[in-house]
Amino acid sequence: MNEKTEGIVLKQSDYKDNDYLLSVITPGYGLISLVARGAKKNSSKNSYACSPLTLADFLFDDHYPSTLHALHSATVTDTYKNIREDLLKVAAANVMLDMTGLILKETEGDAEIGPATYQLLKACLSYLNVSVHVNIALGIFLSNMLEIMGISPQVDGCCVCGNPKIVGISISDGGFVCADCKSDSIIYSVETLRKFRLLNKAKPINFTVLETYEPYEFPIIAILYQYLKEYGDINLTSWTFLSDLVIHK
Ligand SMILES: [Zn+2]
Repeated sequence: MNEKTEGIVLKQSDYKDNDYLLSVITPGYGLISLVARGAKKNSSKNSYACSPLTLADFLFDDHYPSTLHALHSATVTDTYKNIREDLLKVAAANVMLDMTGLILKETEGDAEIGPATYQLLKACLSYLNVSVHVNIALGIFLSNMLEIMGISPQVDGCCVCGNPKIVGISISDGGFVCADCKSDSIIYSVETLRKFRLLNKAKPINFTVLETYEPYEFPIIAILYQYLKEYGDINLTSWTFLSDLVIHK
């Protein structure tokens, strides 16, 4: 049966002969795999829509209960041109795409995670495409991903004793810590702690509000990733690439 859906291409793999296998996140079907027949040929009308980091409308043959569907046609809505022209933005977008794919695979069958992750990814890519604030786009993506997975750090007072006067962030304890509970946690300035809290409270609709509190240094964003690594079992080579790029910039 023919189905139509909007979706974002996360990954493109070689399949048979001239075919690609696409991993696509959609608002209603979650993560789907589409076989794009003949898409490797330059003459294919679908080849343009088959590259990762593309928002498109897909018409496909639903082969339910199989998770592999046949792509009929695809109409590109956005190729995120400004992201593709900037290596740092590409690296940040790759982290978002890889993390989305991994989390959706890990949480397959969860009816809420798919749609929420789709809306988050779409909003963050769209902002990254038009904005110079790469760390805000990435920070909002990671903090909201933590929230969707139910593993957000505790940023209202000390996560151990509740003391409102906090001095550091503990990955192992799961959030802010006070002077009494800090043990070997890293101590941060009040300004850094405030920004970390802000990032954890913000939603994609708050992008422009966050801009007024710039800058958000990469190490603050990296703390969010540490939580995903510790509690979400996430480990991405695209994150290592992004970190190296930022460090050697
Ligand atoms: Zn405490």
